[in-house]
Amino acid sequence: MEVHSVASRTRPPAYDAALHLLRGRRFVALTGAGLSTDSGIPDYRGPGSPVRTPMTYQEFVSGTGARQRYWARSHVGWARMRQALPNPGHLALARLEQQGALSMLVTQNVDGLHEQAGSTRMCALHGRIVDVVCLSCRARTSRRVLQERLERLNPGFATRHGQATVRPDGDVDLTTVAGFAVPTCSSCGGVLKPDVVFFGENVPKDRVQRCYDAVDAAEALLVAGSSLAVMSGLRFVRHAHKRGIPVVIVNRGQTRGDPLADIRLDTGTSPFLTELSSPAGATPREPQETSRRTDRARPSPANTSA
Ligand SMILES: [Zn+2]
Repeated sequence: MEVHSVASRTRPPAYDAALHLLRGRRFVALTGAGLSTDSGIPDYRGPGSPVRTPMTYQEFVSGTGARQRYWARSHVGWARMRQALPNPGHLALARLEQQGALSMLVTQNVDGLHEQAGSTRMCALHGRIVDVVCLSCRARTSRRVLQERLERLNPGFATRHGQATVRPDGDVDLTTVAGFAVPTCSSCGGVLKPDVVFFGENVPKDRVQRCYDAVDAAEALLVAGSSLAVMSGLRFVRHAHKRGIPVVIVNRGQTRGDPLADIRLDTGTSPFLTELSSPAGATPREPQETSRRTDRARPSPANTSA
C-alpha cells in the first residue's frame, strides 16, 4: 500500500518492530493532542509549542471575571475548532476498531475528532468539548446550542477576534474580553462549564476504571501522540508495564512514559497508524524478525517481585 509515510528503506528498525508487535494483538490505544495536530489543532505540549497556562478548575469557579475570560476565548476558538476534520490517524484508528484489532480507544483529546472519524468503542478520558454541564443542576446540554446563545449575546465577537491563535481545547489567546456576556443555565440559572476535565479537576473514577479494565484485557498498549505529561494518561502506561503488557509509544518528542516503553518511535502518528491499519495489519501473521520480537505478554520476574 502506498502511504505518505517514512520510506521503508530509511525508517528506523523500531518502526517495523512496532508494527510487528501490534499486528495480531488486540490492543488499547491511548491518544493525545499530537494525534490532532494533523487536523490543524495545535499541541500545546509538543516541541516548539508556546508556553501556556491553562485555566484551572479553581480559577473557573472563582468568579464571573474568569468565566467571562474563558467563554469569550472559547467562543472564538469554537468557531474555528468545529471546522477541524479527522485526519488519517483518526481514520486509521476507526478502521482498526472495525478490524477487531483495537479493543478500546482512550483519548485525552476533547475535540471529538475520533467520534467524527467513526470510533465507537472509546472513552473520552477528559470529556468532550461538544458537551456543556450546569454546575448546579448537572444538566448536560449541547455546546452547539450554547454557541448560538453566545453569538446572539455577543454579535460579531467571534468574527472580530478570528485571527487569534487557537489551542487544543478550543481556547484562544485573547486579551480583550471586556463586556463579553456569559450565558447561564436555561433551567436553573446556574454556572455553565464545558463538560471537560480541567486542570485541578479529577477524571471521574468510573471512567478511569473502565480504562484500567480495558488495559487489563489487552495484549498491548499503544500510545499515539501524547507526551504523557499528566498522570491521567501516564497511569495507564505504568499499569500496563507493571502487568507485563507490551507498551509502544509513537510521539514526536520525548514522553514521560519512555522508560516504560518496549518500543519508542519519535515520529508522526498519521503515517504509522495508516500503515498499521493497512490490510497487512488486519490479520495476525508469523513473526519474520524473530530477533526483534518483544514478547512481554507475561510479567517478567523483575515486574512481579515488587
Ligand atoms: Zn442548571
